[in-house]
Amino acid sequence: MQIEKTAAGVRAQVKAWKKEGLSVGLVPTMGYLHEGHKSLIDRAVEENDRVVVSIFVNPIQFGPTEDLETYPRDLEADRKLCEQAGASLIFAPEASEMYSEDFSTFVDAGKVTEELCGKSRPTHFRGVCTVVNKLFNIVAPDRAYFGQKDAQQLAVIRRMVRDLNMDLEIIGCPIIREEDGLAKSSRNTYLSDEERKAALVLSKAIFAAKAMAEGGEKDGDKILETMKNIIKKAEPLARIDYVEMVRWDTIEIHHTIDGPTLIAIAVFIGKTRLIDNVLLQ
Ligand code: AMP
Repeated sequence: MQIEKTAAGVRAQVKAWKKEGLSVGLVPTMGYLHEGHKSLIDRAVEENDRVVVSIFVNPIQFGPTEDLETYPRDLEADRKLCEQAGASLIFAPEASEMYSEDFSTFVDAGKVTEELCGKSRPTHFRGVCTVVNKLFNIVAPDRAYFGQKDAQQLAVIRRMVRDLNMDLEIIGCPIIREEDGLAKSSRNTYLSDEERKAALVLSKAIFAAKAMAEGGEKDGDKILETMKNIIKKAEPLARIDYVEMVRWDTIEIHHTIDGPTLIAIAVFIGKTRLIDNVLLQ
């Protein structure tokens, strides 16, 4: 398995693969890989002749007070995981490779970025869309793989690809959880033992919402109220950023379950902001 630090190096390799008629899958990540990322790589390996995993902690998707500097990194462990999973190439650029000093072009997907995470992280999706667009241009994949864990991100990327006529398929993959329910995340490593226990309120609230919806409850306000009460039990360690219900794909607030619906939450556990969600089809 190759590790490339430059866009030109990746391009040259992908061109050579395409000349041989091989298909290429891309899995964009910020590294510190876990079973959630691995599930995306596994799926990409199944469906493509060659798989590129990008590992890049993208500075422009972090707000000024967020965890860009402390975000966990371990390229050697990531290399092993990618190799074992059967990836062909890791693209691990420095920030200077991706952003020249006078970089000035950004991609904004509009309304679909305004609610949920976009509300508390106003420049986040502009950063995500821009870097994902760059990765698509560098790798030119046939398919790209994203986790349902970041449900709004998946909706935003689908919208960008549709609106800008990008020639690739976006594949959404299910959330991978710890045995006790907590959604796997690189940020879980920030949690102290006590916080790790408190963090279980996220999945508890999500599972309760799912059970209510599956039991026939259509009233979003009732479901959201139940979820908030579950999370409040972990106070003062847990602080709600949002607990929301939106139409799936447009990410507009909508409190009646009468079509594909996303219930999504973001909760601070101590200083760590965690997200979780369930998609009701
Ligand atoms: P990140 O490195 O956090 O930017 O995540 C890279 C990709 O992995 C994104 O598409 C995430 O949605 C996906 N991902 C992260 N955690 C999980 C998980 N627990 N289950 C499924 N996909 C995940």
